[in-house]
Amino acid sequence: MKTDSVNVGQPAYYDKLNAMLKSVSINDWKIYLKVNSLTTFANWLSKPFADASFGYSKILTGQAVQKPRAEEMTEAVDRNIGHALAQLYVKKYFPEDAKKRMRVLVDNLKKAFEARITKLEWMSDSTKVKAKEKLYAFTEKIGYPDKWRDYSNVEVSKDKYFENRLSATKNEYAYRIAKVDQPVDRTEWHTTPPTVTAYNNPPLNEIVFPAGILQSPYFDLNADDALNYGGIGMVIGHEITHSFDDQGAQYDKVGNVTDWWTKDDYEKFKTRTQQVIDQYSSFTVLDSVHIKGALTVGENTADIAGVAIAYDAFKLTEQGKDTLKLRWLYT
Ligand SMILES: [Zn+2]
Repeated sequence: MKTDSVNVGQPAYYDKLNAMLKSVSINDWKIYLKVNSLTTFANWLSKPFADASFGYSKILTGQAVQKPRAEEMTEAVDRNIGHALAQLYVKKYFPEDAKKRMRVLVDNLKKAFEARITKLEWMSDSTKVKAKEKLYAFTEKIGYPDKWRDYSNVEVSKDKYFENRLSATKNEYAYRIAKVDQPVDRTEWHTTPPTVTAYNNPPLNEIVFPAGILQSPYFDLNADDALNYGGIGMVIGHEITHSFDDQGAQYDKVGNVTDWWTKDDYEKFKTRTQQVIDQYSSFTVLDSVHIKGALTVGENTADIAGVAIAYDAFKLTEQGKDTLKLRWLYT
């Protein structure tokens, strides 16, 4: 490989490792690596090995009983050939119409968010322009990817579990190594579609809602808008807001950490963030134990705005516009 440099995320670890490669004997390294290999693979082997592996993790994690076999296997399939599983999953649980309806929902959420940016009396026009650019530069991953991963190199056989796992692992390794020196693929999915999660990833300026979370009670293709905006709409509003919370605000529309705010606006933003910190710090969770507002401010900001934006977005729908229907709903 022609890679001449590596971006090391944790340099301190490698400093220590470098020193230890010299100070620890080669024999000890062999034992250490052997133990590591056994720990990694024991769970892929027959019951005595899997049980021994669990006995070990039981002490470390406190998990009392092993997961049911069916659960363990479903997770293994999801983790190793997740896109193959996902194709069957979305066929059954996330039809094309659901994806279309979700796109409309996300569009309305963005419109509602944009309207709120416009209305801010403390933000300057130039920062507003940048904020809106960022809002409309989102990569949106909804349900499942347009392009599925290829597993044709993975060999799967009914009676060779260990070999199956090894084959999938080799395929994954090759897939990752092939990315070296390639431009970042912004369309790539970093979670499998059946996963129940929703997230905002500021370094890529993306919001992700896999098919796994786009199920009742969050989202129901057959339910009316009030239900869906109150459910998944709030979640989307929450995730969009993360792009503009205390941390997300530091990333620009392509995901770089930059000052895209005017200095004055950013100061005003921080004053407002401090108000959320103070408010939550005043809440007690138990007796005299307070929430540490500074540690939860991102989630709190996203929750507060998420609900408000979801409601604004709902009012953009036909059902939301129809006040008569609304009155009927609330009586
Ligand atoms: Zn959040």
